[in-house]
Amino acid sequence: ADHIITVALIGEGISASFTPPMHEREAEHLGLHYRYETWDLLTMQESADDIGLLLDRARDRGLAALNITHPCKQRVLAHLDELSPEAAHLGAVNLVLIRDGRFIGHNTDWTGFRAAVLDGLPSIAGSSVAQFGTGGAGAATAYALLDLGVSTLTLVDVDSARALAAADSLQANFPSARVTAASAVDAPLFLGQQQGVVHATPTGMAEHPGVAFDVSLLNPDAWVADVVYRPLRTQLIEQASAAGHAVLDGGRMAVGQAADSIRLITGIEPKPERMRKHFLEL
Ligand code: NAD
Repeated sequence: ADHIITVALIGEGISASFTPPMHEREAEHLGLHYRYETWDLLTMQESADDIGLLLDRARDRGLAALNITHPCKQRVLAHLDELSPEAAHLGAVNLVLIRDGRFIGHNTDWTGFRAAVLDGLPSIAGSSVAQFGTGGAGAATAYALLDLGVSTLTLVDVDSARALAAADSLQANFPSARVTAASAVDAPLFLGQQQGVVHATPTGMAEHPGVAFDVSLLNPDAWVADVVYRPLRTQLIEQASAAGHAVLDGGRMAVGQAADSIRLITGIEPKPERMRKHFLEL
């Protein structure tokens, strides 16, 4: 009866991750016997290329699931038995369920951001949104925006080929929306016409201080969502709140992906508001 659910996070430099304590505290509230381990490739001296061996180890030890982070979210794809259609489109997996010895890939980054937007912003269906950053996090947020019915999505990345490729692939998947790539130098032309802006570059983290775009160019009614959550109050979130914009900090996405992971792993409904409170204490 006292079945213990064991989960691990695999990635590089994850020893200070908020994900393990978020899972364990919520699982405790849910009355589960739940253990969340941190498998840091750097301290284990394992190569990211050996992700397949780590999956096997997890299965052999009876783990229920693995969360996967940088630099393994793409590498893990080759070792899966099954993949959700959304994770297949994103080409990225952050959750592997282990069921009857089989590995099933999911992506809760995009569903986590979608839940965060639904919780924290007014309806965005039919609106125009610009997004800065089309890397791992940006692929997930863009997918969520289009799934939520955004009608015009403008993607900006300093790597313009990356923004173009992202726009092409999303346009093919969401034909009724209009998805285009734009250059940051043209921000004065398009930023004022957006109902919302998503920031998905590393700008605003301690190692990358600053703001990726000029907040004063925004329409006064536009909302601003950041994916950066360390610090939680990024310069962007500070400037946008000071200017009266509705804001969504990156902690909401971080909580959302963890909540959706817990639901998929255990089949039990977590409480995201309670997880947000825990998150703010970490
Ligand atoms: P990444 O390297 O995969 O992608 C970042 C992209 O931003 C790159 O394509 C890069 O060219 C582009 N870029 C960098 N500076 C730019 C600028 N000034 N203007 C336009 N584009 C720019 O990184 P990632 O994994 O997507 O992570 C980005 C941030 O998102 C990190 O701070 C990470 O911690 C955060 N993140 C948050 C969550 C969450 O749950 N809240 C989840 C994943 C990642």
